[in-house]
Amino acid sequence: MSLEYRQKGDLFEFDMLKCLRNAYFHNDCKECLDICPHGAFYFDRNKMRLNPNKCTNCSVCIGVCPTEALSLDFFDANDYVERLSKEDAMLSCKKDIPCLSVFDSAHFAAALLKTDRVSCDISHCQECELNRDGKVLESIKKRMEEGERFVRELGFEKSFEERAYKSDRRDFFKTLFGGAKEALSGEDKTSLQKPNKVPPKLSLLKQTLKPVAKEIKNTLLPTIYSFLSQKSINDSCDNCGECIQFCPTEALFGAKEGTAIWFMAGKCIGCGICIDVCKPEAIKNEDYIDIVKWIFDRGEELIEHTMEICTECNTPFSYKGGELICQRCREFVEEFSDIFKLASEE
Ligand code: SF4
Ligand code: SF4
Repeated sequence: MSLEYRQKGDLFEFDMLKCLRNAYFHNDCKECLDICPHGAFYFDRNKMRLNPNKCTNCSVCIGVCPTEALSLDFFDANDYVERLSKEDAMLSCKKDIPCLSVFDSAHFAAALLKTDRVSCDISHCQECELNRDGKVLESIKKRMEEGERFVRELGFEKSFEERAYKSDRRDFFKTLFGGAKEALSGEDKTSLQKPNKVPPKLSLLKQTLKPVAKEIKNTLLPTIYSFLSQKSINDSCDNCGECIQFCPTEALFGAKEGTAIWFMAGKCIGCGICIDVCKPEAIKNEDYIDIVKWIFDRGEELIEHTMEICTECNTPFSYKGGELICQRCREFVEEFSDIFKLASEE
């Protein structure tokens, strides 16, 4: 299998096919570049690239990537949260996590929901060499707060406890990297993974919420969370299908033989590409979301069109009343009538 679309550092991988910025002209994400303390990311003709020589596998960028295009050979944040014990969890880079920045707000929320007590050790982040300009600590705190706020908004009275973990970090790295290098000498497991269109961190949070869905007190949530997005489509939609074509997660999809557009909020990553590509500006972000629909991946119809055949070009179009003529032919006729009018006035 060709790995040309993947850039590999020592123990780090950048999957360019999953990178929003690289795959979609309309996206300007640069989260990884902004947070990397080593300047390992750069633009090459507006595409995101990794300089493997500058990457130190520090893992600071892992959690901020909305599509999980960045991964480590020796640590999987989704797997880690999935395995947390119910009673007590300690998230610390001095224990068994490379850096708390491997987690996104969805991981923090899932960790809170899964366990009775979660301690986070950010006691030494301020002095950490990775925390240049204070950016890394600020970003970790922002993601922790977002995860916590989300859980509390659902009605669960849970919060992180900030607590220092006492241990020798060198022991951790000795075990961790030793194991990773051994693993690398065997089969390259990452090359066997199929691209996953919905980031696994979203699936993890939804899976964690399913068993407690009945206990959720507020099911209508504001879409202020980075992982929640609700869309609507108004009547100016001409059913061109651009939003469906460009949506990277298939959150938008056609139904009823192409006459309707459906939306599954649980798959939406809020990238905004659909809004950027919609010429009539018909698709919009909504302020609230039904969290039960989100958790259980329930789709909903955003618009249904009455399709007719244009009497000028014989192609199907979204009919909104009046003459049986599509928008393109209507514009063409109007343009030519203007030209004839100008010519007759000369
Ligand atoms: S954070 Fe992820 S999606 Fe954004 S530019 Fe970096 S690799 Fe691409
Ligand atoms: S529906 Fe729009 S915002 Fe959501 S993932 Fe698809 S393109 Fe991005």
